[in-house]
Amino acid sequence: MEVGAEGDPITLAERRTMSFAGRKIIAGSTPVFDHGPVSRLYAQSDRRVFKVPCPDCGGFTEMMWQHIEWEANRPETAAFRCPHCRVLVDERNKVGMVAKGGVEGHGAACAWPRRLPP
Ligand SMILES: [Zn+2]
Repeated sequence: MEVGAEGDPITLAERRTMSFAGRKIIAGSTPVFDHGPVSRLYAQSDRRVFKVPCPDCGGFTEMMWQHIEWEANRPETAAFRCPHCRVLVDERNKVGMVAKGGVEGHGAACAWPRRLPP
């Protein structure tokens, strides 16, 4: 949603869901600044992150851009470098890694969809 004359887009979106039982609100964006509405919501939350296991060592990682490597001028070679064992994980493993992944919170209780082992 765009910020408009109607006010804060988060509040507007929440109001529009009030008549739905069992509603779920998902806030997402590509944050450019740390002070945007979705960034503020995230800071107020238990700051969950989705982590995937390495198919080689089993270590869980929040996959970040810094973990992606590729040969110069060959984006088709992009792959994930495990920060635990340093193995280069091929793209074909991604679906399986995501299927075995889970969320981890850093703050208040976090129970959905499942927690990773400590
Ligand atoms: Zn690994």
